[in-house]
Amino acid sequence: AIRLAQMTGWISFTLLAIYGHIGEVEDGMHTLTPPHTLVDAPDATELKVDKGEIVFEDVTFGYGRDVGGVEGIRLTVKPGEKLGIVGASGAGKSTLLSLLLRLYDPEKGRVTIDGQDISKVTQESLRAAIGMVTQETAMFNRTARDNIVYGRPEATEDELISAAEKAEAHEFILDMEDHKGRQGYEAHLGERGVKLSGGQRQRIALARAMIKDAPILVLDEATSALDSEVEAAIQEALERAMEGKTVIAIAHRLSTISDMDRIIVLDHGRIAEEGTHDELIARAGLYARFWDRQSGGFAREAAE
Ligand code: ADP
Ligand code: MG
Repeated sequence: AIRLAQMTGWISFTLLAIYGHIGEVEDGMHTLTPPHTLVDAPDATELKVDKGEIVFEDVTFGYGRDVGGVEGIRLTVKPGEKLGIVGASGAGKSTLLSLLLRLYDPEKGRVTIDGQDISKVTQESLRAAIGMVTQETAMFNRTARDNIVYGRPEATEDELISAAEKAEAHEFILDMEDHKGRQGYEAHLGERGVKLSGGQRQRIALARAMIKDAPILVLDEATSALDSEVEAAIQEALERAMEGKTVIAIAHRLSTISDMDRIIVLDHGRIAEEGTHDELIARAGLYARFWDRQSGGFAREAAE
């Protein structure tokens, strides 16, 4: 019975983590729409990731007749490559990540990881291959420790602390106390627990991803600004987390992705431009315009 209760807990946690990630506040509205639950094919195989290559093979997906989505996406993210995605709000950035996480299946085309169609592998093995860091990451109503080791439940205490330190989360976790007086790693998070700021949420998510150590890392930067000291600390922590992994990062502040290997610009669901920061600036197109509009590297307007 305990085991069953535990399993139920982890399953609802997983759903929360996924839906929480999709939930976004845009235009002051919560555009959270839990997708239909995709089930494993009866002959689903285990995803095996050895290189971490991601391919979007001519992928088209729409949320309904003539609304949103992405169209004709052809994109190969090479093993270990760091890819940045930029584009105006509604351009399809989050949709692209949702397709990689298989929250939806493409209408046309397919998404593969190391040559395996992600719609043909178990969702468990797909989730295990991808670490996710966002400021919207949902926290489970459990201890800070549980919220971090969710990435790998068998992690040791040393690994837990080390991941939290690398994610710049250890210090603020030690200072936490919930309404029942539980402190530090024992303090409960989630709706009924310690209230976390966006930056703290992001750092817990980062610690979770670090302990999980998945070959693919997905980052969805929030539009909200953090104070610059926290900002710099998180940026360093993120860079440590990205080492040796294939990374797809959605950025609103272009400065956070300007030194990535490649940047794609999405516009109305299509890839409008791609290249390095320097190439895109030289092209004097959409990206260059976003960049221009930013004072101090903050893409407030790029995100509108
Ligand atoms: P971005 O992350 O670049 O802001 P999204 O991928 O969230 O863009 O959205 C792309 C388009 O799809 C937008 O036009 C948006 O309104 C639409 N869209 C996103 N999610 C949904 C949904 N759950 N239902 C209907 N339309 C959606
Ligand atoms: Mg988005």
